[in-house]
Amino acid sequence: VARNPGEAEFHQAVHEVFDSLGLVLAQHPHYADAGIIKRLCEPERQIIFRVPWVDDDGRVQINRGFRVEFNSALGPYKGGLRFHPTVYLGVMKFLGFEQIFKNALTGLPIGGGKGGADFDPKGRSDGEVMRFCQSFMTELYRHIGEYTDVPAGDTGVGGREIGYLFGQYKRITNRYESGVLTGKGLAWGGSQVRTEATGYGVVYFVQEMLAASGAQFDGRRVVVSGSGNVALHAIEKVQQLGGHVVACSDSNGYVIDDKGIDLAALKQVKEVERGRISDYVEHRGESARSVTSGSIWDVPADIAIPCATQNELDADGAQALIDNGCQIVAEGANMPCTPDAIRAFARAGVRFAPGKAANAGGVATSALEMQQNASRDSWSFEHTEDRLSDIMSAIHHTCLATADEYGVPGDYVLGANIASFTHVADAMLSLGVI
Ligand code: NDP
Repeated sequence: VARNPGEAEFHQAVHEVFDSLGLVLAQHPHYADAGIIKRLCEPERQIIFRVPWVDDDGRVQINRGFRVEFNSALGPYKGGLRFHPTVYLGVMKFLGFEQIFKNALTGLPIGGGKGGADFDPKGRSDGEVMRFCQSFMTELYRHIGEYTDVPAGDTGVGGREIGYLFGQYKRITNRYESGVLTGKGLAWGGSQVRTEATGYGVVYFVQEMLAASGAQFDGRRVVVSGSGNVALHAIEKVQQLGGHVVACSDSNGYVIDDKGIDLAALKQVKEVERGRISDYVEHRGESARSVTSGSIWDVPADIAIPCATQNELDADGAQALIDNGCQIVAEGANMPCTPDAIRAFARAGVRFAPGKAANAGGVATSALEMQQNASRDSWSFEHTEDRLSDIMSAIHHTCLATADEYGVPGDYVLGANIASFTHVADAMLSLGVI
């Protein structure tokens, strides 16, 4: 804490991982002896830069850009870019740190990194977003590359932004280096299923959790928070697998639809009209209502999938879910549940899947995009989705098998943290003190 003052989210993420490692360090003290814990907490490189751009009124705007290249023991740094006004170094480091372990769990050769800017794309014109992206890449390009660091999208960075970023990279370097960014459009080196992957992946993970106790989605009530990329595709996959999604949200409130969220109406509001979640009810008549007080976690559900943002589900939210009989919580977002909420789930016997395992489908499919770029190939939707589903199933298996091995059966948090830590730590040991 003294070494990284004021970086609350980073401290929280480090505690969350290291609190799980007592068992493994007791059995294998050589990790601590070799300084692995201290080395893991220090990013290999942190880049902070000025992003100057001109808005539509001709005014010069200045934002702060970041790229935290955290750990490359397993492969090139890999992790998304977030454009959001809340971005600062502590958020970048929390996300980069999480990414190391998430990427390790996929079993694919990717290190951990994260980046972004405190730029708010909301309300900005297309031209402003393009000029911002071009300026951002004018600095970032010198730090990234197919073999060094491969950014992708995250909150506020979707296909449009990746397009502007890739265009500027190509222009500055005079190289058509498809593998430098993932989340690209299908016509210019993107992969099928990348857009859907995080949302689909978390639902595949829940399907495995259900199957572990002989159950299926089978009409179960599901609450999904958020209504962005991850949430929309989680809702879609739950519905395909027979679940009943009854509520979703944005930062202004939530909607409940007793007939089940209508995906077409939701996509119309969020992707076409770019409206607020409250606008959804206008498309739905009496079955839906918009709520701007209280919390989405007050809505009774068998399964909760938080897909919005960090620390959105606190102890009160957890208690409301528990009181209403919720049995499974799986994190679609990064660190959406507070430590108090996670402890409450553990006490109440609610099965809880941490984001580094449950939402790893996005980055896994990014690694599949890198494979396709490297081999100048493109795979079908079905083949890519099969790979995604297999990867989520393997991550689920790894979590449970590791939890069993360390005597904490069913503990997904410990299973995920220990399995990913040992994978990265063993690689770091092999590479010497670097
Ligand atoms: P988007 O920007 O597409 O969507 C975020 C959604 O969350 C929006 O609907 C936003 O609403 C809503 N939201 C933000 N803050 C709150 C809040 N306090 N309460 C309720 N809703 C809120 O982002 P993504 O869907 O891409 O990412 C969501 C989360 O998933 C992030 O934590 C991200 O890091 C994580 N993630 C994303 C991956 C990906 O592939 N995209 C991969 C792995 C993790 P509003 O419009 O009002 O802001």
